Amino acid sequence: MIKESSSPNSGSSGNSGNGTELKIVKNATCTFCGCVCDDIELHADDVRIHKAVKACVLGKAWFLNHTAERKYPDALIDGKEATVDEAIEAAAYHLYKADMPLVYGMSNTTCEAQKECVALADQLGGLLDSHTSL
Ligand code: SF4
Repeated sequence: MIKESSSPNSGSSGNSGNGTELKIVKNATCTFCGCVCDDIELHADDVRIHKAVKACVLGKAWFLNHTAERKYPDALIDGKEATVDEAIEAAAYHLYKADMPLVYGMSNTTCEAQKECVALADQLGGLLDSHTSL
């Protein structure tokens, strides 16, 4: 049975799993949609999030269905497995050749990744946009 941490700031109790104590993260940010709710309480072990308190159904699906398990290759080029270095080189080539690169999306990314996207768009002299403009 999973035990949740018992710090004074921990939220409601509950369990769901495999005997691992859950860490509780308060005020986590959900970047799944443009609302960017920043008051989510996450209950997680080292592999997955078991509970996302205050998240809507979309946010819960996002948090609970992403894990730290390695299910996919680190990178693909034209649908074929590649190393990260090869993928970075291919991406740099395409971005260098682009007339007006657009860094787009970011709805399923972390705040740290979004920060890197902004920096990349700046460096490229390109455009930045998110899915919320559609
Ligand atoms: S998906 Fe739900 S929880 Fe996540 S930011 Fe949007 S409204 Fe908030």
